[in-house]
Amino acid sequence: MSKHKALTGAIAALASVATLGALAAPALAADTTYSPNGKSVAELAQHGGAQRIAAIGNKKAKNVVLFIGDGMGDSEITVARDYLKGANGHFDGLDAVGQPSALDDVQAGTGQYTTFSVGNGSKDSAVGKDGDGKLVANPNPGKLTPVTDSSASGSAWATGTKTYNNAVDVDIYGNPQLNLFELAKAAGKATGNVTTAEIQDATPAVLESHSSERACYGPQGKTDGTSNNASKQCLINQLKENGGIGSISEQLLDTRADVTIGGGSKYFRQTVQGGEYKGKTVWEQAKEMGFQTVENDPAAMNALQYKDGQPVLALMSDGNMPTKFNPSKATAKDPAKDANPTVCTPNADWLGNQGSSLKDMTKKALDLLNDNPNGQKNGFFLQVEGASIDKQDHAGNACGQIGETDDFDQAIAYAMQNVDLTNTLVIVTADHAHTSQILNAQPAYALSTVLKTADGNNMVVSYGTAQDDSRDADGGYNGGDMEHTGTQLRIAASGPGA
Ligand SMILES: [Zn+2]
Repeated sequence: MSKHKALTGAIAALASVATLGALAAPALAADTTYSPNGKSVAELAQHGGAQRIAAIGNKKAKNVVLFIGDGMGDSEITVARDYLKGANGHFDGLDAVGQPSALDDVQAGTGQYTTFSVGNGSKDSAVGKDGDGKLVANPNPGKLTPVTDSSASGSAWATGTKTYNNAVDVDIYGNPQLNLFELAKAAGKATGNVTTAEIQDATPAVLESHSSERACYGPQGKTDGTSNNASKQCLINQLKENGGIGSISEQLLDTRADVTIGGGSKYFRQTVQGGEYKGKTVWEQAKEMGFQTVENDPAAMNALQYKDGQPVLALMSDGNMPTKFNPSKATAKDPAKDANPTVCTPNADWLGNQGSSLKDMTKKALDLLNDNPNGQKNGFFLQVEGASIDKQDHAGNACGQIGETDDFDQAIAYAMQNVDLTNTLVIVTADHAHTSQILNAQPAYALSTVLKTADGNNMVVSYGTAQDDSRDADGGYNGGDMEHTGTQLRIAASGPGA
């Protein structure tokens, strides 16, 4: 496809999302919140409005691999390093990206960025509820909020526009924003999206959809298809049966990335409610649209080959993928924990045991993108998410988050050792910080786990953002309990433009 045709297609795609239920930006009479450099929420919410520094350097990458450790703040990296490698140890991937290279012509850089979102927060910004509890358009830009969720954070890097918690690539007024996949496709590049989460989860969703609500997973909402909750989880104008662009799963198919590998296969068993594929399951729709599909089958994922005009959609588990380590449970202060520190144990259900670790999925994605003629000619954009660092941090599960950080690190290490860093930019960062903290002794007023680290010492990991790990039923952003935190994050890169 010529660049011109591709760009026209991308713009047409964006124009088509006007049926999302977008709203004109209203006057912000109540906007009195200013950041220290004087920008109002309305200014920060404009495309590019939150940028602090101008772009530096003039080297352009042909390919980009963006690694997102969900909820991977500095604390989460350090917890995992201490446990797995020792306090003075180093990760093969996480600690290699952004470091000066032995190769003179490979750029490297490490910095920090902030992640706040705008709007009043989860579930109440650009959408509201009518008398029946259905979601309806309700512009309410609200204030700046210091703690983001994954969808507002992901929307910001995917589109360059800051937005409200729960938004997927729409601004605070509900207007869809052009995203990285749309831009990559317009440039003729191949595209890939890999995650250990449900593929409809916020971080992968920001590359494949525009949705006022992150829970709008499928045509029947966030259900397994035996019930329909879409009117409560999707802006009703967005649904296909109302003439909209459809749920995240349906938009994923329309976006047509070359490679999509993740979890969340059960949502594709839902029945399409409107449009050309009405009455079919989303899996049936995917097959009719020419996708190579894999459902919960690691061997079949590994056997996938590039086929012209047949993008890959491989969903490896019903929901989020099983974690690498069995869970540990944070508990109240107890001297017995110091005497018997926890050693994490491998989870027999982890899909890495069947050839579907995050490294395996990253390798498959890179192979498919490198075999793609568009990738060879124009390059590719690949996002890889280590999703459950966040999800296990929500659960106060130290072993869970450590194993997921390990899995993520090995995927990064594979990429660093197998891509050409003279033409490929590898970026590693996170979307928001999280709860876990390393303490010298068990805290009296928070839950904690005492772990035996690789260097033989005890390490106390504290979880102090919820009273316990079962009581705060409405807390967290993924049905979890411990909360995201608002500190700035590491961003590291190697390759052109790093
Ligand atoms: Zn989270």
